[in-house]
Amino acid sequence: MIAELKLLKLQGKQYIPDITKATIPPPFKGKPIINKEPADKDLLESICPTNAIQKNPFSIDLGKCTFCGACAFYAPQKITFTNEHNMATNVRENLIITEGEENHILLNEALIRKEIRSLFGRSLKLRQICAAGDNSTELELNATENVNFDMGRFGINFVASPRHADGIVISGPLSVNMAEATQICYDAVPNPKIIILAGTDAISGGIFQESPALKREFIQKYSIDLYVPGNPPHPLTFINGILKLIRKKM
Ligand code: SF4
Repeated sequence: MIAELKLLKLQGKQYIPDITKATIPPPFKGKPIINKEPADKDLLESICPTNAIQKNPFSIDLGKCTFCGACAFYAPQKITFTNEHNMATNVRENLIITEGEENHILLNEALIRKEIRSLFGRSLKLRQICAAGDNSTELELNATENVNFDMGRFGINFVASPRHADGIVISGPLSVNMAEATQICYDAVPNPKIIILAGTDAISGGIFQESPALKREFIQKYSIDLYVPGNPPHPLTFINGILKLIRKKM
């Protein structure tokens, strides 16, 4: 016991005490700010590997952005990536950041189904589906359960069986080969259930969005409860997004 207490004193707290106030140091890239400075918009549009940049109005779609930073490199006077990690939302359009906009990305409370808060506020079990992911998002989802982020303290855990889950988390762009498996897994989750898209690839297909190897009808067929941007999404983006979805007060 004494040895454990000494170790605790030596190491300090291993977990992040207040996950809602935690910040991430550089080089993390979070929500960008696009100011009104002039820039070569044609160039910026052409260098973006995922068509995340649109010219009219000038905007960045965080559902498509890989956070590669190329646009900010070419036009640092125009685009700055902040360390704002609270980017999850239940409205796809909220992920589109326009010129001059500095608001936080929020969830639309009116769109959150009543049963999500009444049933899942203190306990949410999730089945993760790697739908042709590249393991980056999957690694970050694993990290949500480590001693630092300790998502389990909020009653949120990943489970092995969809029968024991309250919803699914899809990572990866959803390939032809994973389309049927995703549907089968979703069908096996009892009602009511939620769908979370984790990462750029799941939200839009990312750099694979034009690939014939994708089959994304599942995403269009159901309403999505939470979009978690990032390539891969940071554990804090994921956990804080879910907490905002399932709890009125965090
Ligand atoms: S950071 Fe995002 S918007 Fe900018 S070039 Fe890369 S993918 Fe496109």
